[in-house]
Order: sequence, then structure tokens, then C-alpha cells
Amino acid sequence: MITINEHYLKLQASYLFSDIAKRVAAFQKNNPDKDIIKLGIGDVTRGLPAAAIKAFHDAVDEMANDATFKGYGPEQGYDFLRQAIAINDFQSRGADIAADEIFVSDGAKCDTGNIQELFSQDIKIAIPDPVYPVYLDTNVMAGRTGTFTDGRYQGLIYLDSTRENNFVPTLPAEDVDLIYLCFPNNPTGSTISKAELKTWVDYAREHKALILFDAAYEAFIRDESLPKSIYEIEGAKEVAIEFRSFSKSAGFTGTRCAYTVVPKQCAAYDSSGNRHFLHSLWNRRHCTKFNGVSYPVQRAAEAVYSEEGKAQAKALIDYYMENSMAVCNTMDTLGYDYVGGKNSPYIWIDGRMDSWLFFDMLLNKTGVVCTPGAGFGKCGNGYIRISAFNSHEKVKEAMQRLTKVLSA
Ligand code: PLP
Repeated sequence: MITINEHYLKLQASYLFSDIAKRVAAFQKNNPDKDIIKLGIGDVTRGLPAAAIKAFHDAVDEMANDATFKGYGPEQGYDFLRQAIAINDFQSRGADIAADEIFVSDGAKCDTGNIQELFSQDIKIAIPDPVYPVYLDTNVMAGRTGTFTDGRYQGLIYLDSTRENNFVPTLPAEDVDLIYLCFPNNPTGSTISKAELKTWVDYAREHKALILFDAAYEAFIRDESLPKSIYEIEGAKEVAIEFRSFSKSAGFTGTRCAYTVVPKQCAAYDSSGNRHFLHSLWNRRHCTKFNGVSYPVQRAAEAVYSEEGKAQAKALIDYYMENSMAVCNTMDTLGYDYVGGKNSPYIWIDGRMDSWLFFDMLLNKTGVVCTPGAGFGKCGNGYIRISAFNSHEKVKEAMQRLTKVLSA
């Protein structure tokens, strides 16, 4: 008899986006003339940078000729891309990361989800609340949690992100082994200072713990004093793995390219306390289960680091950040409390009522779709997330509609 991995039965069905879709469909049915504006999802809306498209086309043409055709490439990524990443994203900011510490992949979702395979079953895991659900669900699937009771999985240490701590969790009271951090944060848009991040690095060094740092939104950081990479913090290379993605920084959500940095000195321990380097374990896992990102996509990603590519990618981010500022300005005028938006494409707004009630009120009175914060964890209740990924025109129109209703 074939039996299943019963840990999957503990997973809570993710009703968030299907519930939203159902409510939006019902609203549209009852209001066929109403123009709905979606500021809920975290997907980009604008075309790829021209430099990336040109490189993409050229690389596709190379695939047509026997002389330039490429078959399987290196699983870890082509050296041209790994070098471009190391130089532009790390060395240029004083973070000493080498090309061979970078593993190119088809998404930060897969990497943040798969990395937990390297660790033993009985580790203590600290996960923020609210949270990007992948960190949580992949550990549930792997059997590292108990059942879901009272809105939380047993056996995990939740790091509450609340107004009181400015949505930057503080160090856990008990010892933990694995810590998930994401800054700029999805869903709250909050950022972490170098001094705050240093407390986590120091904690990890002291406790022989490991930090998984998701920097998928680093391109939105405007405040130069904020860290874009955890490796800007002294001592982080021994205790942190970092995840990055071209999805939001260059519009690659549908093209798929990301990378994970595993520094050579980053280590974890066996049950006898012997140190093992995670670089070789991740390399082994990556080469066994992954066969590389396609050559044209890697050429397109490389082109994001050309002079034109950098300018075009920056223009993309600037475009969305104008939307972010428009949302922040509206909330300032209306006197609604929020975080995020200044260095991130997400604005996390205190709705002053239950998240879903606020969602329904906005939808019914304005036709604007947001994401209820409760869908990201217990601490998200009372908040909604507005995303900057839409056109200037739509965001302007949405803010006008919100102003009418929320200032009434
Ligand atoms: N990490 C965070 C925090 C995200 O919000 C997302 C996507 O929304 C991802 C990772 C996934 O990125 P990718 O498109 O590279 O899989």
C-alpha cells in the first residue's frame, strides 16, 4: 500500500488568494460596470528592461546554430552571470562574496523552500509572524512542526512583528537554531537597520545558529544607510545564507531567475558537534535535484548588470516606487498609520478593524482590492497590504477613491 507523507495533512489550505478572488468575482457580478483596481498581488506589471530582452533574443538565436548551441550548462549557473552578480551586488558594496559562492536558480521561492532539506528534523526554528508563507509550509511538509492549533503550528518559535517593535522582530527568549528573516519585508514592507541586523548575526554566532536572509526586495531600498545584503554585517558569512531574485528587481517573475549565496565558511553541525560547510551540502543538493537555468534567461539576467541594463532596471523600480509614494502620501493625508512604502513596494496599513472587514469595505465602497494582513499570520490581523505593482494611472485613481471613502 502506498502511503502519504502525513505532514501534508497538517498544512492549512491557503485560502487567502482564492478567498480574495471569490469576493472580487462576486463583487464584479453584482457591479458589472464597476472598474476594479487590483493592488493586492505581489506580481510586477511592466515589461523587462530592453537590455535584458536584447540579450534574451541574441541568446535564443545562438541556440539555433550548431556552432553556438548550448546544452546542459553548469548546475550552479554560468560563470558570466555568477561573476556579474558577485561584482555588482556584493563586491561593489564592500561585501566579500566570490562568484563560486553564488548558486543561480529559477526562483527564490524554490530556494527558500528547499534549503531546509539540509537541516536535521529536530532543530528549533524561528519564523516571523506575519510571514511569506513558503518558509512556514515547507517546514510543515518536512515534519518539523506539530499540528495547527489556535492559528499557529506547534513546535515553532514565532517572532512577532508588531507596531511595538516597528515590525522588526526582536531576538527570541529561548535558544533557536534556524532563523528566517526577510528585509525589506513581505508583507509589511518594514526594513532593518545595520545595527538591528547585527544583533541577529551576533545571536547566530553566539548560539551556533543559522540565519536564512531573504533579500528579494533589496532593489527597493532608497535609504543608503540600510543594508541590502546581510554580508554587509561583519561576521555574517559564517552564519548566514542569502536569497535574491531578479523577479522584482528586474521584472523576471515570468522569466524566472534568482540566486542563493552560500559563503564557503558558512557552517552547521552534525549530531556529534562536528562542523560541516553548507556550501558543499547545498552544491550536492543543487547538482542532484536541479539542472540549471536556461542559457537565454541567464544571458538576460547578465544584461541587467550592463550600463543600460542597470539604468533600465532602476527606472522600473523608480516607476513602482512612485506608486508607493502616492500610497504613503494618501495615508499621511488620511491620518492612517502604516509602515513600509519608503524602501519597499508594500505598504502595510492599520485598517483600524478586522483585516477582512476592511478588505470588504474597500472592495464594496471603492472597487479597490488589497490583501488582508490576517492571511500572513496572526499578527497580521487588523492590517492590510497594498502593493505598488500597477500603473501610475490605476494607483492614482485608487487613491482618489480611497480618499473619498476614508476621509468621509
Ligand atoms: N521571497 C519573497 C519574500 C517573496 O515575496 C517572493 C515572491 O513574491 C519570493 C521570495 C519569490 O521570488 P521568486 O519569484 O524568485 O520565486
